[in-house]
Amino acid sequence: MPTEAAVVGNSTIVTTNPATGEVLAELACSRAAEVQNAVLRAKAAQPAWQASSVGDRVALLRRFQKILSERRDQLAMLICREAGKPVVEALTTEILVILDAAEFCARHAHKFLREQPLPHGNPVMKMKRGKLVREPYGVIGIIAPWNYPFSIPAVETLSALVTGNAVVLKPSEFTPLIALELSKLLLDAGLHPDLMQVVIGEGPTGAALVDSPIDKLIFTGSVATGKRVAEAAARRLLPVVLELGGKDPMLVLEDADLDIASSGAVWGALMNAGQTCLSVERCYVHRSLYEPFLETCRRKIGKLRVGNGIDSEVEVGPLVSERQLRIVEDQVNDAVARGARLLAGGRRLSDLGPSFYAPTLLADVTHDMTLMREETFGPVLPVAPFDSDDEAIRLANDSDFGLAASVWTCNRRRGEAIAAQVHAGTVMVNDVISCFGIAEAPHGGFKLSGIGRTHGEMGMDEMVQVKHLEVDLLPGIPKPWWFGYGQKLRQQMDGFIDLLFARSWATKLKGGLRSAGLLRRSNRI
Ligand code: NDP
Repeated sequence: MPTEAAVVGNSTIVTTNPATGEVLAELACSRAAEVQNAVLRAKAAQPAWQASSVGDRVALLRRFQKILSERRDQLAMLICREAGKPVVEALTTEILVILDAAEFCARHAHKFLREQPLPHGNPVMKMKRGKLVREPYGVIGIIAPWNYPFSIPAVETLSALVTGNAVVLKPSEFTPLIALELSKLLLDAGLHPDLMQVVIGEGPTGAALVDSPIDKLIFTGSVATGKRVAEAAARRLLPVVLELGGKDPMLVLEDADLDIASSGAVWGALMNAGQTCLSVERCYVHRSLYEPFLETCRRKIGKLRVGNGIDSEVEVGPLVSERQLRIVEDQVNDAVARGARLLAGGRRLSDLGPSFYAPTLLADVTHDMTLMREETFGPVLPVAPFDSDDEAIRLANDSDFGLAASVWTCNRRRGEAIAAQVHAGTVMVNDVISCFGIAEAPHGGFKLSGIGRTHGEMGMDEMVQVKHLEVDLLPGIPKPWWFGYGQKLRQQMDGFIDLLFARSWATKLKGGLRSAGLLRRSNRI
């Protein structure tokens, strides 16, 4: 057990505006003991919350939704200042997504949490009544990244709360103020403060949360950290959901609308400066469209306004840190050294600030380049040609990741047929990233992209344990399978199996005769 004095990492973190370097705040890091205490307080408060009616919890979400809507400008500005994303994206991909997620949870909670009858098929079980009851885990730990600093923890928090859990959230060290604002919105909506707490700090604070007595963990972040977290969780069989990285392919078939597909590619690769788990990280274009597609993308990228996202006209902001920029820069330089054609960008924009990188277009990329294997998480659109649908599908599936993918075609059936062959948690036909904004849709990946789902009903499912409740309607009657075994019971059981499962009516009938007396055994113990 950690002592009160044990500091788990640095004692403070400094959060800054990635566009300007302005220091926004210096915050004390939660010590291991403080993380532990937060979880214990949450555990103490949770049973009363679980006992409250679903209607009360839904009412809380409705008040949260109202306050969020009223404060959206203020929050969008904070998201822009702390995470660097353009204010328009803060409104669409963070606030709008959460208003809608709150709507979904509020509308569906009653039905989702309603007890579900469990009909029994086996005739010997007909004298029982079963039902499924969904119970909250208790305390849900949430570890969140910086790239969607509001919408990711908020959607998970809302599903956890409406199903009767308490939450302890560890946000990224880059975006603690946004997490604190989420907690403030909920508190202002009337939530008991112990039911949603934020612990601030770096990786060690997250590790302390994994080691604390939380009942389930929802982790969103990189594959490397996800593996460390999964190992630590496995030591005590803590259930986890892992939402990890992506390397999403976009397949542009020869019958795609060039103008629409190129705009989709440019937005999908460059929105949030490419720092989106669902962003287009690999774009494959049919050879017949390849050069015109590249030229159209180059022209469109040339029109993008890069700068401080506080200016509503800006489309691409800075990367979250210079460290992130160096990863992008290394991958682009490696690709160019290995033969990729640089058609736009490929350089820092130092005059704008230390974390700005020019929107970049690369052609003729191949799978021996790191850029096509590892997550780039920067404003880069890498494009390669293909000659057939089979080749496109093979290229799309040639990745360790499987978060999402998109297929672009004017033929919906063909799009769906190809989508069925792509290994990913979501495949969109003629759009990218928007699946994150569909409150009903589950979000999560195949392969290294993770385990489990968030969002929608499947996201709520991760927040509950299913209890099977079974009541015997004939409590005075002993069960035929109880002790008192012997040759007779063996024959009766044998006959009963034939009665239920034999294919021919004659065998069924004989089985029925052999099983006679099974329900009224005299030799039971
Ligand atoms: P990281 O993996 O670096 O960090 C994620 C979170 O884990 C942060 O809060 C981090 O804290 C914390 N953390 C770090 N070390 C530990 C540890 N040992 N134990 C517990 N927690 C720890 O990811 P990023 O924040 O850089 O986010 C980007 C990544 O997230 C990308 O790979 C992206 O694809 C992925 N992502 C996946 C999504 C999905 O839904 N599949 C959605 C969005 C992003 P700190 O930041 O303070 O170090």
